[in-house]
Amino acid sequence: MATAASPRVFKNFINGEWVESRSGKAYENRNPANTDELVGIFVASGSEDVNAAVDAATEAYKSWRLVPAPKRAEILYRAAELLLQHKEEFSSDMTREMGKVLAETRGDVQEAIDMTYYMAGEGRRLFGQTTPSELPNKFAMSARQSIGVCGMITPWNFPMAIPSWKMMPALVSGNTVVLKPAEDTPLSSYHLVQILMEAGLPNGVVNLVSGDGPNAGAPLAGHKDVPVVSFTGSTAVGRIIAEMCAPDFKHCSLEMGGKNIIIVMDDANLELAVDGAIWGGFGTTGQRCTAASRVAVHKSVYGEFVSRFVARAKKLRVGDGLDATIDMGPCINEQQLKTVMSYVEIGKAEGAKLLTGGNRLTSGAYAKGWFHEPTVFGDVAANMRIAQEEIFGPVVSVIPVDNFEHAIEVANGVPYGLSASIYTRNVNLAFAAMRDLYTGIVYVNAPTIGAETHLPFGGTKQTGNGHREAAIAAIDFFTEWKTMYIDYSDKLQRAQIDNAE
Ligand code: NAD
Repeated sequence: MATAASPRVFKNFINGEWVESRSGKAYENRNPANTDELVGIFVASGSEDVNAAVDAATEAYKSWRLVPAPKRAEILYRAAELLLQHKEEFSSDMTREMGKVLAETRGDVQEAIDMTYYMAGEGRRLFGQTTPSELPNKFAMSARQSIGVCGMITPWNFPMAIPSWKMMPALVSGNTVVLKPAEDTPLSSYHLVQILMEAGLPNGVVNLVSGDGPNAGAPLAGHKDVPVVSFTGSTAVGRIIAEMCAPDFKHCSLEMGGKNIIIVMDDANLELAVDGAIWGGFGTTGQRCTAASRVAVHKSVYGEFVSRFVARAKKLRVGDGLDATIDMGPCINEQQLKTVMSYVEIGKAEGAKLLTGGNRLTSGAYAKGWFHEPTVFGDVAANMRIAQEEIFGPVVSVIPVDNFEHAIEVANGVPYGLSASIYTRNVNLAFAAMRDLYTGIVYVNAPTIGAETHLPFGGTKQTGNGHREAAIAAIDFFTEWKTMYIDYSDKLQRAQIDNAE
């Protein structure tokens, strides 16, 4: 494995072998906390590489689909054990490649472990239905069937968890995989794929092509031999992927942006709500699809909440995530940092009150990374751009609200619908919020982040296109239902016609 002292050249993984790109092109990947550190050199793949990977996956599918699901699952169990053994090493490599603090990268690897065990368990379930036929001497049942080669395009913020959310359900269901990870985080995918091979996955069942979106992602999404495309990333790119999938009616799952909210009611445990807003807003430097970038606070506790929240945000220690004393790492890259800085200017221009932060950090140890201060805007109006658009950085907008109904209106008044939370001790309000928040995930007295692998994950509106990841919902996406009728009457029996007798 690569270490900080020995950056390595990483290759694509096609048909069981680590191979160069057909074009010979490569790119450098650097640590966002210290751009002097080269994490590795990775393949800049093009359509020829994608085609080779899809060919390998197509060939491997012929036999993988026939391997009994419990046997496929045994490989996943072994992979989960191996991931557990390598957890520390993979976590620190992930911090080096994308910046979030070690406690969080350990959580990311753990999520991959959890998902791998969970989907391995599905190998002995994958249940269908048996049901009486309406006709005598006839049997009816349904079973899941695999589909084929699954193209997977993933973002950088959960570099091992998200590929595992897609790969494990696809594999246990009997599909084969071509993964195109985010260009900023190919190393974690490399580790995941290597572990699967060590666990005994046959050649060609999983293939990895690194590279950028237009050159490596687009040829994968549009490939005629890839009937399933699973994408997680921005809404803008998700729309492009959907358009590429539409002509061939591909199965297409899109998990996209968010503008999540924490609602703090007047009866909330304020200290708990502040804890949640700090973790939800600044965990992963605000670069989570479920980040709490908005906090709607009842006007009667607004002043108290804001003063406690700002005091806590000021105390957050920003720096290299490998240092155990650090609370918040850098932004992923220069472009993302610039986006954050531009939204700070937009917020100021819109008349929101900058309560803390607002600046890039450049002095001393910060000089070589993409660091930004934890930033809080107060007196934010719900229709301001900083309260409507996904910033994907350490910027939280606090919005005063008049009452519960107003809070729900603000919560639902954005184009996205991933995660929402309410802090209240009133059980009636908690249940009303669970009913009325139009998001894929709702938390009560907990922040907007904290998904577990055995429950469906995904969002409404411009966050998703109706599918869900994780849990059985993921198996639903990566399989087709086949319904089978077995007539043992030895005569023609017509459904709906002959059952009247
Ligand atoms: P992105 O959309 O820029 O990139 C995502 C992936 O798409 C990358 O692998 C990229 O290379 C690829 N890509 C880019 N252009 C492409 C094209 N034209 N054709 C094919 N592939 C292309 O997103 P990002 O910056 O990596 O991630 C941040 C975004 O991801 C945020 O919007 C965040 O909310 C979202 N996200 C959503 C979830 C979720 O489950 N809803 C989870 C994590 C992240």
